[in-house]
Amino acid sequence: MPIILPPVARRQFIKGSLALGGTTFTASSSLAKAADHFARLDQNRVALLADTHISADPNLSYPGTKWPGSPVGEDEHEKVNMAQCLTEAAKSVTALNPRPAHLIVNGDCAMGRGTEAEYKELLRLLEPIRAAGITVHVTIGNHDNRENLWKLIPFLKKEQMGIQAGVIELPHANLLLLDSGRKGILGDKQLNWLAQELDGRSEKPALVFGHFNPYPNRGVRPIKGMSDGPSLLTLLAKRKHARAYLYGHTHEWQQDQRDHLQLINQPAVSYYFGKGHAHGWLDMKLTEKSADLELRCIDPKHLQHGDRRRIVLVDKNK
Ligand SMILES: [Zn+2]
Repeated sequence: MPIILPPVARRQFIKGSLALGGTTFTASSSLAKAADHFARLDQNRVALLADTHISADPNLSYPGTKWPGSPVGEDEHEKVNMAQCLTEAAKSVTALNPRPAHLIVNGDCAMGRGTEAEYKELLRLLEPIRAAGITVHVTIGNHDNRENLWKLIPFLKKEQMGIQAGVIELPHANLLLLDSGRKGILGDKQLNWLAQELDGRSEKPALVFGHFNPYPNRGVRPIKGMSDGPSLLTLLAKRKHARAYLYGHTHEWQQDQRDHLQLINQPAVSYYFGKGHAHGWLDMKLTEKSADLELRCIDPKHLQHGDRRRIVLVDKNK
């Protein structure tokens, strides 16, 4: 399982319930208020974030580094503050009505090497989301360090096969979260696990999440795909109820389709690579028939703000 942060509000609710104990008017109205709070959480809505790249220093902004063949120069990049971008994303997510019951950060939570200081800062920035009752899930990206993550918040450790991988079962779909590690390798063990988990849940559509791109990026940065990306794609191609693979890593909002499988490249919350590229998060709404994605840019004036993409969950040919 990936790291799962129990929502702060739920803890407070339980603590409050125990503390109140009695049946005074104040107690019952507080409980009613808390119940109302949870009632506004929608199990069919999930906020999808990726590449938050949180630094230990909340004042650090994207430095605009140049790489070989870059189409933009260092001085042409705008600078965005990573902590500020996550704060803005958290504000928009918690303002939704109803609120998503879940939020996934699909890897590269940390800026550098996944230090404890970076995760401490990440947790601070996630606090408003947790306080809103939303359950946070995190996958591991190449800038993360799962041991440090586990060490810093050990009660959240959900280890399988020595890595983090897990399933979120929702009313209309199962979400399978993978761990592509530092180098973009899933490994046979994890691929076998994925196949088993998918085969055991064939009655419901599945959406698969992992940090790395499964094939070479066609966008601004020539980032090669994960080494066993072809094996992953073959595995998913054989299972018609696997409807999409969602990934980050390239920091670009892109989509492809291969037969029944949609490939959704999530934008980075901040730290975008191409000049003027969209950065933000995706609001995913699930129904029996589809998973509808809406791009929510940090800059609401961005031309792509409000972009939509539909993942069809029910295969008409089945
Ligand atoms: Zn990244």
